[in-house]
Amino acid sequence: MNTIPNGLHHVGSCIRPPSEYNAILLQATLGCSHSKCTFCGAYKDKTFAIKDRKFLEDDFAFASRYCTHQDRVFVMDGDAFIMPMDKWTWILSEIKEKLPWVKRTTCYANLKSIKMKSDEELAKLHEMGLKAVFLGLESGHAGVREAIQKGGTPEELIFHTKRLRKSGIKLVTIVLMGLGQIELSLDHARETGIALTAIDPEAVSVLSLIPLPNTPLGQAFEKGEFKVPDDIGMIAELRELVKHTDLSRGAFRSVHASNYLSIDAKFPQDKERVLKTLDNALAGNVELKPEWMRGL
Ligand code: SF4
Repeated sequence: MNTIPNGLHHVGSCIRPPSEYNAILLQATLGCSHSKCTFCGAYKDKTFAIKDRKFLEDDFAFASRYCTHQDRVFVMDGDAFIMPMDKWTWILSEIKEKLPWVKRTTCYANLKSIKMKSDEELAKLHEMGLKAVFLGLESGHAGVREAIQKGGTPEELIFHTKRLRKSGIKLVTIVLMGLGQIELSLDHARETGIALTAIDPEAVSVLSLIPLPNTPLGQAFEKGEFKVPDDIGMIAELRELVKHTDLSRGAFRSVHASNYLSIDAKFPQDKERVLKTLDNALAGNVELKPEWMRGL
């Protein structure tokens, strides 16, 4: 167990969404309970575990003294949402009592962890202060989801994320372009757009696949067995995704460093403008990010 200089108990790398850059990073779990997605290189150094209360008690004591200017808490690691209700209710009560200035608590979730909570439990978590979850949705295409071992069908994904939305917990979805390879590129984009439209999340964050050598997908890519679309292929895929994504009121962003083109839009009002930009990019009239500038 390392104690990083800010005094919170952190083990290994701390991964959080860009928007939570100033949050108090409360590491209540280690790793990811799923740990099977073929493209994912995160948490390879960790076995999934729920941390003991005593570490968190120390973290709350430290944060109550030294983190008084941070009004967000991000509960780590990869799918902290999977913690049982008694642990979650304890954490949210502690935040309320020890860190009363905190306005927003969030965490990563996956389909399995949402599925394991009843409607009443979701509502209770929201009422106690869990404001939003970040879900690695990746794809709404059944075959792609199976190939990447994401777990769960598109139907289950839509059903359980809608339950989550009804509870009041906000949903930020992360989708990954390139997972359908060249062959299923447009199908992956279209089915993902259709799923997003059905779910209607508060925000969609698009990333573009960069195969990592420490993953099964990366190893297949190196052997030439997994074909990633090139820059123009990725833009065509993104256009298909945008075309099929209708949000009643949500953010649509591709601002992550892995993308060839940065989009920061609000749907529905910006959708036509985004489609025009992507058409211009496909016609060669918009400069795309060079390969060397892409990163995770
Ligand atoms: S659920 Fe998320 S953290 Fe876990 S293996 Fe899949 S992508 Fe990685």
